[in-house]
Amino acid sequence: MTPASRDHELAASLGQVRDRIDRACADAARDPSELTLIAVTKLFPAADVARLLALGVRDIAENRDQEAGAKSAELAELLASDVLAELTVHFVGQVQTNKARSVVRYADVVQSVDRPKLVGALDRAVGAALDAGERTTYLDVTIQLDLEEGERAGRGGVAPSEASELADLVADSTHLALRGVMAVAPPDLGTAGTRAAFDRVSEIGRAIANVHPAAGWRSMGMSGDFEQAIRAGATHLRVGGAILGSRPPPR
Ligand SMILES: *Cc1c(COP(=O)(O)O)cnc(C)c1O
Repeated sequence: MTPASRDHELAASLGQVRDRIDRACADAARDPSELTLIAVTKLFPAADVARLLALGVRDIAENRDQEAGAKSAELAELLASDVLAELTVHFVGQVQTNKARSVVRYADVVQSVDRPKLVGALDRAVGAALDAGERTTYLDVTIQLDLEEGERAGRGGVAPSEASELADLVADSTHLALRGVMAVAPPDLGTAGTRAAFDRVSEIGRAIANVHPAAGWRSMGMSGDFEQAIRAGATHLRVGGAILGSRPPPR
C-alpha cells in the first residue's frame, strides 16, 4: 500500500470509530469529550503512529516492551519534539518486573498493574529514571482487573476482591500516580453479559475512587465492545483493529 492510501485508510476507519463513539454517547446521554480514545498500535509501525497524530489522536497503547521501546526510538527520529510531546503512550501488556526499568523510559501510563511486586518494581524504576533524567514526571497507573478470576491463565489482572488493597499500595508509593482501573471483557458473553462485566468494573472503580479521588479512570472497551463500555461509564477506550485494521502476526 502506498503511504497516501494508508493515510486515507486510517482517516476513514478513525472517522467510523468516532461516529460509533458519538452514537453510543448520544444513546447514553454522555458527552464524547469525557472519553479518551486510545489507538492500540501494537504490531503496526511508527509511521502509522505519526499518521494517527496528524489525524488528531493523542493517545496510543502498546503491549510488548521490546516492540514499544524500538517504536518510541523511531518516533523520536520521525517527529519534531513538540509533536512528540503531545503523545501519551500507554502500556497495556503484562509487565515482567525485570522490564519495569525499560518500560518507564517511554511509557506515560502503565495500565496493567496487577500485583504488589510490580508496584514496587515500577516505583523504584520511575525513581531511577527521574534520577537519570530519562523522565520528568511520575508514572500514571491503573489497576488491571481480572474479570475471569484466573480461569484463563496468562492474561494478567488482579482478582476483583484484591483490587482495593493493590490500589492503596499504589497510592502509598513514591513515584506512581493512581488513576483508576482497567479491564478486558471476557470473550463470548454477548451484549448483555459484556455490559454486566463493564458495570462491574465501574462499580469496583467507583469504590476505589471514593478512597482515592484522582483515580476516576475506567479503561474498558475494545474494537468489538466499546459501545457497551461507554454505556457502563468508560473514560478510556482502547481500540486497535477497528482503527488500524487486522494485525499482522507477531514477529
Ligand atoms: C490489543 C489490545 C486492545 C485492542 O484490541 P482490539 O480488539 O484490536 O481493539 C485493547 N486492550 C488490550 C489490553 C490489548 O492488548
